[in-house]
Amino acid sequence: TPLVEMEGISKIYQTGTIALQDVNLRIPEGEFVSFVGPSGCGKSTIFRLIAGLGDPTSGTMRLMGMDPADARKQSDISFVFQDATLLPWCKVIDNVTLPMELRKIPKQERIDKAMHVLEMVGLQDYAHALPRQLSGGMKMRVSIARALASEPKLLLMDEPFGALDEMTRQTLQDELLGIWQKDKKMTVLFVTHNVFEAVYLSTSIVVMSARPGKIAETISVPVPFP
Ligand code: ADP
Ligand code: ADP
Repeated sequence: TPLVEMEGISKIYQTGTIALQDVNLRIPEGEFVSFVGPSGCGKSTIFRLIAGLGDPTSGTMRLMGMDPADARKQSDISFVFQDATLLPWCKVIDNVTLPMELRKIPKQERIDKAMHVLEMVGLQDYAHALPRQLSGGMKMRVSIARALASEPKLLLMDEPFGALDEMTRQTLQDELLGIWQKDKKMTVLFVTHNVFEAVYLSTSIVVMSARPGKIAETISVPVPFP
């Protein structure tokens, strides 16, 4: 069964904006799918529907072959946004463990997992630093670590590297690819304005068009790592 399945999904906001019209999408487990298209074509709306922030106006959606609400209860869906939103008064490690605390994961396990993901993104030495002591790229790394700590089935990333300089962007792209390749079970959905980034990272690219938001085409990218 596909991990994400949308059939005839439309979303009309209360303002009357038709954000999505008749979107059909099937994403198999383990794929890395990039979404590209002009501003306002509905990329964020698709992500919000998957995350459960709002319901579609019409159409059917299944996650992991289940009703979306059940799927969200049973397995983890993590989000990373463009602006790495860390709690400024909490140390790096506390920012990473907080979502696990909300899920009632025992303390020692939270700390072990947090240190493991911080190591993956090269920030183990900054566990006890405060966010303001970190650069923008390092904050984004913490944000990625936090999303990965709960070992999500599905990782939604909405332009995560948009605000970073080119060097940092490339480093983080490679870190993300490494993590995704290691754990073939994680599915990544990724919004980017950068077509080169989409080609570099993805197994397939969903190209959208606006007014109304639709999927124009889906392109398979040849496997980057044989
Ligand atoms: P993208 O992420 O591709 O830029 P969005 O999904 O954010 O596109 O938006 C799609 C369309 O829906 C846009 O026209 C946007 O202005 C509109 N829209 C998004 N969110 C809302 C909302 N909460 N209320 C009303 N209109 C919205
Ligand atoms: P982006 O294109 O960067 O994804 P969005 O268009 O999604 O940004 O807008 C960010 C926020 O503003 C979202 O929470 C969205 O719900 C809200 N929003 C976007 N467009 C509208 C709109 N036309 N009316 C009301 N809220 C909107």
